[in-house]
Amino acid sequence: MAIKIKQLTHIYNEGTPFEKVALHDANLHIKDGSFLGIIGHTGSGKSTLIQMFNGLLKPTRGEVYVKGINIHEDGVDKKHIRQSVGLVFQYPEYQLFEMTVYDDVAYGPKNLGLEGDALKERIESSLKAVGLDEEFWQKSPFELSGGQKRRVAIAGVLAMNPDILILDEPTAGLDPKGREELFSQLKEMHETRHLTIVLISHSMEDVARYVEELIVLYRGEIAFKGDTREVFKHRERLEEIGLGVPQIRHIMDALKEKGMLVDTDVLTVEEAASKLIACLEKEVNNA
Ligand code: ADP
Repeated sequence: MAIKIKQLTHIYNEGTPFEKVALHDANLHIKDGSFLGIIGHTGSGKSTLIQMFNGLLKPTRGEVYVKGINIHEDGVDKKHIRQSVGLVFQYPEYQLFEMTVYDDVAYGPKNLGLEGDALKERIESSLKAVGLDEEFWQKSPFELSGGQKRRVAIAGVLAMNPDILILDEPTAGLDPKGREELFSQLKEMHETRHLTIVLISHSMEDVARYVEELIVLYRGEIAFKGDTREVFKHRERLEEIGLGVPQIRHIMDALKEKGMLVDTDVLTVEEAASKLIACLEKEVNNA
C-alpha cells in the first residue's frame, strides 16, 4: 500500500471565527503502482488532501500512512517521507532558481548527499524522463518555454527518486499539445519506473484518457472513488455536484436518445469512434 488515510479531518483555524472544515472523515487506500486522479471543485479539499500525503500538513484528526508507516508518530523521519513522496505544486516553474537546467535538477539529489557518477546518472535520467534533450541542459531555465520549464521542475522532484509522485494540476496553463505530451510522459514514468502517481486535474477529458482510478471530492468529502470508467458511470450525480463527464459521453448519450443502438460507455473520442463503427457495421449487416 503506497498511502493510506484513515478518518482524516482537517480544519483550518479551528476554534476561531475563520474556522473551515477542508476535509471531513476521509478514508482512502492508494495501492502501489496506482495512477490516480483527483477531481473536485475549487475549495473541495484537493490541495489540502495532497499536502497530507507527504506530511506537509498535519491533520486535525486521523492518520496518514506512507508505505505502512504512520507518518505523524513520534520518531518518524519526515525528511525520508518527503523524499519518498514527491510533491509537485501548481506552477512549479516559479520555483526554478539555478543558472542552468542541469544545476536546478542537481539541487535536490546533491542535498541528499549524492555525488560523482551517481549524481550525474540521477540528474540525467530525470531530465530524460521528462523528455528534455541534452541541448537544453546547460541553458538557463528562463530561456525555455512554459511547458519546458515545468518539465525541469518535475525533473527536480523526480531526481529525489520518489516512490510516489503527487502533482497539483500539472498541466494547468499548458496548450493542448503540451498537456498531451506531459500526460504521456507521466504515463511512461508510471510504467517504466513503476511510480505511483496521484494528480489533481480540472479536465474530465484528461482524467478520462489517462488515469486508471479516480477520486471525486465534494465539500471536503470523498464522493466517489474507484476505477475511472466506473466513476464516470455516475453522470447524473457528477452533474449535480457541478463536475460532469467527458464531452464525448454527451454525444454518445444524445445518439442513443435519437434511437441509435450504441454503447455509450466511453471515455475517449477514439473509443467512441470504434463503438460507433461497430454499431454502424451491425446496422449495415442487419439491413
Ligand atoms: P481545492 O484544492 O479543492 O481548491 P483546498 O484544499 O485548497 O481546496 O481548500 C479547501 C477549503 O479549505 C476551502 O474552503 C479553502 O478556502 C480552505 N482553505 C484552504 N487553505 C486554507 C488556509 N491556509 N487557511 C484557511 N482556509 C483554507
